[in-house]
Amino acid sequence: MKTTIKAQGQGAILFFNDQRKFGWVQLFTPEDLKTFQKHLGHDIFDPKFTPEYIFSQLQRSSRAVKQVLLDQNFFAGIGNIYANDALFLSKIHPATSAKEVSQAQCKKIHQHLIDIMRQSVAAGGSTMKDNKYVRPDGSFGGNQFYFRVYQRAGEPCLVCQTKIKRMVIGGRGTFYCSHCQK
Ligand SMILES: [Zn+2]
Repeated sequence: MKTTIKAQGQGAILFFNDQRKFGWVQLFTPEDLKTFQKHLGHDIFDPKFTPEYIFSQLQRSSRAVKQVLLDQNFFAGIGNIYANDALFLSKIHPATSAKEVSQAQCKKIHQHLIDIMRQSVAAGGSTMKDNKYVRPDGSFGGNQFYFRVYQRAGEPCLVCQTKIKRMVIGGRGTFYCSHCQK
């Protein structure tokens, strides 16, 4: 989808190219924006995004932990790549009930999500095979070379060499190592 929006009186043009069709653009009044933001979870880089916060949010749901990490009403800004790889690094099976995730595991999820996100930002984001994600200057991101399990189905686990598996959770491709993630 490509959308061109002219902000009133400013002459600004917003070019929106959504590679996965999950994105959208909406114009808010300041009041409506506040209401909308009330329903969002904390962002990874928000100081309120702590291991305790992750634990309290996960306790609210018995859905798969992977699905809850992607739910913007619980956490804002965690994409599919980052949820997959953070669960792999934390050695948590993606289908684990969110309620069953321990406080110690939430500490790991917290640390790995922040590390992965920092690394991705430093690498300029992730450009997939379709080359649709480009940076403002038109160049490609470099984070796709650091994926641990995301889109690596059939390839060996970087830790134990077991073949990475793929399943679908909440309609999204989910990648994991059946040996490392119990
Ligand atoms: Zn493994």
